[in-house]
Amino acid sequence: MSESTGDCLRDERPLLLKSVPFILVHLAPLGLLWTGMRATDVLWCVLLYFGRMFFITAGFHRYFAHRAYKMGRLMQFLMAWGASTSCQKGVLWWAAHHRAHHRYSDTDRDIHSPKKGFWWSHVGWILCPKYQATDWDAIKDFSKFPELVWLNKYHLLPGIGLGATCYLLGGGRGLLTFFLSTTLLYHGTFSINSLMHLWGRRRYVTTDTSRNSFLLALITMGEGWHNNHHYYQSTANQGFFWWEVDASFYLLKVMSWLGLVRDLRTPSLAVLQRQRVTEHPDVGMRPERAVPSSALSAHSGEG
Ligand SMILES: [Zn+2]
Ligand SMILES: [Zn+2]
Repeated sequence: MSESTGDCLRDERPLLLKSVPFILVHLAPLGLLWTGMRATDVLWCVLLYFGRMFFITAGFHRYFAHRAYKMGRLMQFLMAWGASTSCQKGVLWWAAHHRAHHRYSDTDRDIHSPKKGFWWSHVGWILCPKYQATDWDAIKDFSKFPELVWLNKYHLLPGIGLGATCYLLGGGRGLLTFFLSTTLLYHGTFSINSLMHLWGRRRYVTTDTSRNSFLLALITMGEGWHNNHHYYQSTANQGFFWWEVDASFYLLKVMSWLGLVRDLRTPSLAVLQRQRVTEHPDVGMRPERAVPSSALSAHSGEG
């Protein structure tokens, strides 16, 4: 290990004190063991999970990190607000860090590479003081909107608002159900950073270890097609074929019919067909083999 890499890894440790609120969110749902859960609570938990997962995948990820489609300024703010109810930090923080993941995938500079360990990639990096600040240079295109900068600063407001609404509507059980769905939502989202670079199949040659999984695509509303996504990042759909279920894209399609979003980018037939692992050495699966630069000419779309 080089000295600079050693220095880099030394300050990559979660800070327990700063992690207390995050740990409390995980412990709060245990209260449901005392209060019990009714069928309506379970339904509410599922709605809170998938409703917010949509905002994360379609908003934080496909729009703010990758600009895979367009929408007006009010819709942009509403999308950012909805995604911020997930309590996964600010919109500009989220998108900027994700752009860094694509820029440095599976290298020493990849913030959450599973090569640094499963738990680090899953949750450790989020609790590390080194990565608390927003990388403004990486998100100049959206930091020109003052309302997004404001929301990025007060990113806990939407989550507190939703939690308070759950309490008003459902009392103590409503609030505990909010914490349960928030905890499940954390790990559904985080599994893309951890599991989807470790587990699943690869269709496209990329310089990273990204993988595709039908199961994770169901849990994350389409984000499980992570190898597709690393291969070609700029599309609004991540399921590239009809059997690759991508619920976020289906909803975005409906929103485009209603005029709420527009210009959904999808891959061309030529993009779908090239760089198959069946035709080229695959660096992600067999790191000891080099990938010809010609085989990577289409890598990553336009980001
Ligand atoms: Zn991405
Ligand atoms: Zn990835």
